[in-house]
Amino acid sequence: MLYRRIDDIPVKLSGRVAIKLHMGEAGNKTHVSPSDVRVLVDKIKENGGEPFLVDTTTLYPMRRYTVEGYQEVARENGFGKLNVVIAKDDVFEEINGIKLSKEILGMDSLLILSHGKGHGLTAFGGAVKNIGMGCVVKDGKRKIHFPTFPKYNESKCILCGSCAKSCPINIIKINNNKLEINLNKCMGCRACVIACKTGAMWTPDNAIEQTFDLLSLAAKGFISRFKGDIQYINVLKNITEHCDCMPDPGPVVCDDIGYLTGNDPLKLDSESVEMIKKKNPDALDFDTWELFERIAKKHF
Ligand code: SF4
Ligand code: SF4
Repeated sequence: MLYRRIDDIPVKLSGRVAIKLHMGEAGNKTHVSPSDVRVLVDKIKENGGEPFLVDTTTLYPMRRYTVEGYQEVARENGFGKLNVVIAKDDVFEEINGIKLSKEILGMDSLLILSHGKGHGLTAFGGAVKNIGMGCVVKDGKRKIHFPTFPKYNESKCILCGSCAKSCPINIIKINNNKLEINLNKCMGCRACVIACKTGAMWTPDNAIEQTFDLLSLAAKGFISRFKGDIQYINVLKNITEHCDCMPDPGPVVCDDIGYLTGNDPLKLDSESVEMIKKKNPDALDFDTWELFERIAKKHF
């Protein structure tokens, strides 16, 4: 159901309620707003519940890489007065071979609050990604991204340096006519593969499909294992070209739509994407989204 105002959304969750959301990278201005979150926090308290804002640390080495770093960024982004819990990477439960956050799994109920926006991997980031990547600890995130980590064929490399320039976290270096990649820090974004014009940097043909499969498997594994109630809200406001992991997520690509709620995360995301497409048929990479949707449906 679509709501124009967040105040109108019924929230019936009780006990220790985790509001799972992305609180934005440092400098990002388009993440879910603290004032919207405050409305939901107050509703949960009115029901006698105890709300927490929760998220996990990132795979890429920016400020949200550590619990302490993420807490600082959450404060800077306006969430300081709310109860923020950043899950520890060493507290996990392995389901379907992927390490999920045991701290989030241990909450009584869950509000999956997702900012609907473009995403470099899945084309749209919403509820499924908020669980399948967002409720997974660092090792699990690495496993999901692993198929898209670059492979390197030295015999095709002309040492042009394009891959190094394209890497957003500077983990490719050319020293003494040798290229080195620190794959321990890689986040599988494939920018280096796209930048390489000789085929020296490559990923297997079905790498993206494999990552999509692991991501949706993680989301479904989490939902199946979670014992309490789950409510989903997609915030379709400030719909940017890129995700909230970017300090600058690019331009807004679609007028604000409102707040979409439902109890099936994939259906909610599909409806969100359809609404965006109606507003702007060029807003997102819809072909990539449809590929993700097709793969995710195997698990949902
Ligand atoms: S872009 Fe390709 S050819 Fe150029 S340095 Fe990187 S791997 Fe080598
Ligand atoms: S995939 Fe390539 S560009 Fe992206 S983080 Fe890894 S090494 Fe850097």
